[in-house]
Amino acid sequence: MKSSIFIKLVFLNAVLETYACGPGMFGRRRSQKKRTALIFKEHVPNVAEFSLIASGPPVGKITRNDPTFQELVPNYSKNIIFRDEEGTGSDRFMTNRLKEKLDNLAVLVMNTYHVVKLRVTEAWDEDNIHSSNSLHYEGRAVDITTSDRDRSKYGMLGRLAIEAGFDFVYYESRSHIHCSVKKDRDNLERRSFQTIITENGTEITLTSSHLIFTKSEANLDDKKAVATYARDVKIGHFIYVVSETSSLQKARISFEKVIKVTVSRKVGIFAPLTLHGTIVVNNVVASCYAVISNHQLAHIVFLPMRILHNFKQAGLYFLQELHLLKLNSSKINPSQNRNGIHWYAKFLYKITNELVSKNFLYIDSLKM
Ligand SMILES: [Zn+2]
Repeated sequence: MKSSIFIKLVFLNAVLETYACGPGMFGRRRSQKKRTALIFKEHVPNVAEFSLIASGPPVGKITRNDPTFQELVPNYSKNIIFRDEEGTGSDRFMTNRLKEKLDNLAVLVMNTYHVVKLRVTEAWDEDNIHSSNSLHYEGRAVDITTSDRDRSKYGMLGRLAIEAGFDFVYYESRSHIHCSVKKDRDNLERRSFQTIITENGTEITLTSSHLIFTKSEANLDDKKAVATYARDVKIGHFIYVVSETSSLQKARISFEKVIKVTVSRKVGIFAPLTLHGTIVVNNVVASCYAVISNHQLAHIVFLPMRILHNFKQAGLYFLQELHLLKLNSSKINPSQNRNGIHWYAKFLYKITNELVSKNFLYIDSLKM
């Protein structure tokens, strides 16, 4: 039974590997059909911007002091010229989805015009210079030109923007193209995180459905590690903490008593996959596997992935993720991971029902 699951997984893994490594947006040979420039006042799709098949309705202005401001990411792409006439850097702030499309477009523009770059004249607006419901206030809209400000290129720039994947592209004015995107998907938005603090001041933040090794006072001498959902960790539990050392092999593990648990909402998901299925974050030993409630089982289910995956890549990815945890969720390498969950893990979330009993799953978090 187990081996048939493995064969199935290896097979599916091979199929998906092909899919995942297949030609990306810029690797694929485009059909030879000629691009047609947008005409003045044309928009694509041919519906209102707030229509659900375009960018969708406004959901509320984001101001700098608003907690939702944290959902915006700065864009420091060297392929894009930012006008930043406000001098506040506000034109660099945008949602993850807008950033992704804009970065795509910057490459398309360079491929088409070579020395000419994409130029952003407006992105997130905090000065209320747009109409009352503008998506600029949410960091979901951008006004663009080419860096040479050659207006004869703007119609084609609009066409490239459609190819880059914006949800709404509008040749709004002779002096710019306006583009906007849908709201970021739920799993890129704010999710529930637990911050666990121990008596020694060790602190770790995990998604509520992430597994962490714990012990209760009663079984402190028991050698077996118990993986518990972060959301189930309570004051008085003990967590595994690694003493400061340069090498994990020689690391000494001790138990620290949890004295405080807080819940917060943050952007992004953190679920790296490593060879041993265990990660050390801020010296705390946690499991890489979110969602599946049994660490051993999760480890077995992920076995094909661990065999087939390039370990060097995994290591780099792991380091990047650790770095990421302290910095910003926008730094995720988009080719490998768009929202912090390894594609294989994501795939498994979808097919886990076939493989393991529903009893093992934390269904609430299956929001892929
Ligand atoms: Zn605009």
